[in-house]
Amino acid sequence: MRRYLHLLIPAVLAWVGGTQLGAHDRARTPIRIPDLPQYLTLKCDFHTHTVFSDGKVWPDIRAEEAWREGLDAIAITDHIEHQPHKNDLPTAHNRSYQIARAHGDALRLIIIPGSEITRSMPPGHLNAIFLRDASKLDVPDWRDAVAEARRQGAFIFWNHPGWRAQQPDGRARWYAEHDELLAGDRLHGIEVVNEREYYPEAHAWCLEKNLTMLSNSDIHNPIGLDYDLHAGDRRPVTLVFARERTPEAIREALFARRTAVLAAGRLIGREEFLRPIFERSIRLLTPEVRIRGTGSAYLQIQNDSDITYVIQPDPGDSDLAFPSEIRLPAGRVALIQVRSRKNDLQTTREVQLTGQVTNLLVRPATPMTVTLPFRAVLSPQ
Ligand SMILES: [Zn+2]
Ligand SMILES: [Zn+2]
Repeated sequence: MRRYLHLLIPAVLAWVGGTQLGAHDRARTPIRIPDLPQYLTLKCDFHTHTVFSDGKVWPDIRAEEAWREGLDAIAITDHIEHQPHKNDLPTAHNRSYQIARAHGDALRLIIIPGSEITRSMPPGHLNAIFLRDASKLDVPDWRDAVAEARRQGAFIFWNHPGWRAQQPDGRARWYAEHDELLAGDRLHGIEVVNEREYYPEAHAWCLEKNLTMLSNSDIHNPIGLDYDLHAGDRRPVTLVFARERTPEAIREALFARRTAVLAAGRLIGREEFLRPIFERSIRLLTPEVRIRGTGSAYLQIQNDSDITYVIQPDPGDSDLAFPSEIRLPAGRVALIQVRSRKNDLQTTREVQLTGQVTNLLVRPATPMTVTLPFRAVLSPQ
């Protein structure tokens, strides 16, 4: 024991003196997704709850969670009709936004006022965001609530259309009520992803009916209870391609359908947005490779984004062969082996590595096709 006493004494002194044990960084982890040529790529979550409806956290915590996760904006969208804490906390439909907004302003995180109009299917649950006074939506008829939201200039979207509590088979269904909302300019978007669910039907409707694609967490718990953040797990976000980082610019982009869905390592959206994101994420560090005989060479491709791209290359051609799957890991440089099939060639060729990026969806079950051009100098053994 005596041998270890010299170790114990400083420890006891430190404890008595109240020296801090360990350290905790109050820090933000940016989400790296390239901007588009004319727009900023903002990371947003337009569906969150607090104790002011059935959520489990005080509203200012929502702001700091989102800031730490690298988001640019969140909407606070407590339920209008579902107020399970009302015996402990009075119903106050605008209050959660006000509290979150104060901390959001301090952190430079955009907080958008909203509400969830919570009805049985059809029409199901609808979020109205950019509201001026949410309390006016507290009316018996859902049509009146939606009309009031629209009078306030709200952007309105359909939440979790295939939610199993309302659609036991998990399939989203379009009803006459949705036609009615659409015709009356009261439905502007749909959640293609809610929490960890993807709705291919909603994805197809957004393309067919020209609606905005959204991807939101619908978080009720503290975020760390539902997402293993330190292991790289992330809440789903809506990417918004906005002219500037302001609430007005986000609103404009939402009505103009300039969004994409980023969820569980997948990017879903219109090709006009996905293609520049992919192209601006990657850099070919080896524009020319040299191969002798039936040997091989390495392509190096740097991926500066936080999306790991997974490419299924076309088989190649009669001269060159590629691996059956190419992964471009987020934030790293991938090494890709290219083999020559012939040993008697003497040529310099422009080669196209073409393939499908399996985690970039431009339509349901339709990956985006990409081309990576490089030059190959082939010579006999
Ligand atoms: Zn809901
Ligand atoms: Zn919700």
